[in-house]
Amino acid sequence: MANAKKAKRPAKKSKRDTGAPDPDLIRDLVTANHILFQQGVVDGFGHVSVRHDKDPGKFLLARNMAPALVTAKDILVFDLDGAPVSPNAPPVYLERFIHGETYRARSDVHAVVHSHAPAVIPFGVVSDVQLQPIFHMSAFLGDGCPIFEIREAGGQGTDLLIRNPQLGAAMARDLGAHSAILLRGHGATVVADTLRRAVYRAVYMQVNAELQTAANSLGRINFLTSDEAKAATKSVEGQLQRAWDMWALMSRNLGLT
Ligand code: MN
Repeated sequence: MANAKKAKRPAKKSKRDTGAPDPDLIRDLVTANHILFQQGVVDGFGHVSVRHDKDPGKFLLARNMAPALVTAKDILVFDLDGAPVSPNAPPVYLERFIHGETYRARSDVHAVVHSHAPAVIPFGVVSDVQLQPIFHMSAFLGDGCPIFEIREAGGQGTDLLIRNPQLGAAMARDLGAHSAILLRGHGATVVADTLRRAVYRAVYMQVNAELQTAANSLGRINFLTSDEAKAATKSVEGQLQRAWDMWALMSRNLGLT
């Protein structure tokens, strides 16, 4: 079968062991990197991963580089400990443990976005205002958005980064069953069952933060109720392909894909 075809071109050992990831998944992950840049969620920093389609104990993530510049050949396979599967891997992201430990803790999660999206940062550093769904597009925030306080897990003198598996596990513990978590003085992590949904949520978490800040300056905010948030999440996220297609085109028009 496949062996006969591939005999002339030796496959890498790691790929033969686990089954190579679907090329379409890799392509989508490249597009996700570009969309998140194009939408202002990531800049030179931040990253997005997807769980391996053939091995739930692995995930795909770019090598250490700006998301806007990622191409298919920059995508690496990692195990859940955050170790690249290839022994000759190039430099990797310091905060890859955000991804591995979230996949370990949440079998329902198949994509993770970590960003320093500017508009969400204020909501991680104040305790008397919570990020809540201000409109239907960000209804997924209706199940709450906890704040990860790294001082509780890492002491008083960390550099704020999730730079080891222990900090990654602590963040995943605080994320619990939520769709997003704020990292105090650092950024946010957003999860979903699909890559496209995770990208959508990361974009609209940022939009929600901008709108909530604006509304807060006007007066008391009438947020979505829990029931409204549940209903709206179902309706809106059933149509996220529309946004993905547009964002992908906009990224290509920037010359990114
Ligand atoms: Mn970070």
